[in-house]
Amino acid sequence: MSIQASPARSLPAGKPAFDAATVRAAFPILAREVNGKPLVYLDSAASSQRPLAVLRAVEHYETRLHANVHRGVHSLSQWATEAYENARETVRRHLHARSTHEIVFVRGTTEAINLVANSWGRRHLRAGDEILITYLEHHANIVPWQMLCAATGASLRAAPVKANGELDLAGFRSMLSAHTRLVAVAHISNALGTILPVQEIVRLAHARGVPVLLDGAQAVPHQAVDVQAIDCDFYAFSGHKVYGPTGIGALYARESLLSAMPPWQGGGDMILSVNIKESTYNALPWRFEAGTPNISGAVGLGAALDYLDSLGLAAVAAHEHALLELATERLSALPRLKLIGTASDKAAVLSFTMEGVHPHDIGTILDTEGIAIRTGHHCAMPIMEAFGLAATARASFGCYNNAEDVERLVEGLKKVRKVFG
Ligand code: PMP
Repeated sequence: MSIQASPARSLPAGKPAFDAATVRAAFPILAREVNGKPLVYLDSAASSQRPLAVLRAVEHYETRLHANVHRGVHSLSQWATEAYENARETVRRHLHARSTHEIVFVRGTTEAINLVANSWGRRHLRAGDEILITYLEHHANIVPWQMLCAATGASLRAAPVKANGELDLAGFRSMLSAHTRLVAVAHISNALGTILPVQEIVRLAHARGVPVLLDGAQAVPHQAVDVQAIDCDFYAFSGHKVYGPTGIGALYARESLLSAMPPWQGGGDMILSVNIKESTYNALPWRFEAGTPNISGAVGLGAALDYLDSLGLAAVAAHEHALLELATERLSALPRLKLIGTASDKAAVLSFTMEGVHPHDIGTILDTEGIAIRTGHHCAMPIMEAFGLAATARASFGCYNNAEDVERLVEGLKKVRKVFG
């Protein structure tokens, strides 16, 4: 049974036209039932679903073009290489990077950050240096820096976050010091939805000559990202949160930095020549892509970004923002429900707690209604701890969600309240 998306009747008027029903119909999984109920998928911040355009692009690659890349003289290898490198150009265009030399394919945001920590970090950091992050980072933007600090003697500092989930910019500014060697912050928080003032953060850091890494895992799916306009030095994101496959993502790195960075993994494809004593390394960006890459994943990622572009990122952002406003209003009206993270600049993520109900019980009861949300610490334990919480329930929205999904969530939460009194 498929859900008929209701027209956005309860959404504010005056938003750009966005045909949510057509978008929804492009995602086959949304037509299935879960526990006997039409699926309401509200876990896109963890992993989004894939449209047919992505599934078909991957199928076409797998059934028509696949061979190993870069090494073969035969036609399939050349077609596969072309498909892979075309995907790199799509990522470049999407992020508005200057050159494909600046786009490294990786497994995802986590691997991108580990690459920077291991390559740039080990070369540039020493005892007494500081890395500045914030309290709202995902573990992927905390643990690699802790490991780097353990290896180099540098220390990790975290800027404070205000009670509404916004970054305390004055606190951040005061923690930027003569010792800071790198700033690494989320563009959008996965746990709270806060959109960080990244341009201002970059401006403050660059004024001190400090490079900035942005964790864009939650931003690329929801808004246009222009790395030149932001002027960041590194930007990381994952394919599976942007309607693409798992196991693929990209790191943007400013060419002047990347060209001076040592490789972090050795092997095939990242070399020009090898003898038993030594090797010479390949040009950018292949120097950072040792071994056979995730070729079909890259093709799927390229198709996902093309799909997002075809919807128009401004329209997607407006649609999701309207859903956020509707959901915020509807959930705020529920008794003994508390929203966690109410920043004025927010993406479509609603973290909440219900008095007297463990978040896992909220998730379990909603699942019986076919509603998928996430519960737990969202791989962001420091910010949970700062709020005095072990866990929250989190509903996150993507381009395919609609007002009916919000109503189903509200009805589901009323049921939870009934069970727990
Ligand atoms: N950063 C943020 C803000 C995230 O939301 C996530 C995924 N939850 C990650 C990093 C890690 O992404 P991945 O698991 O795809 O490497």
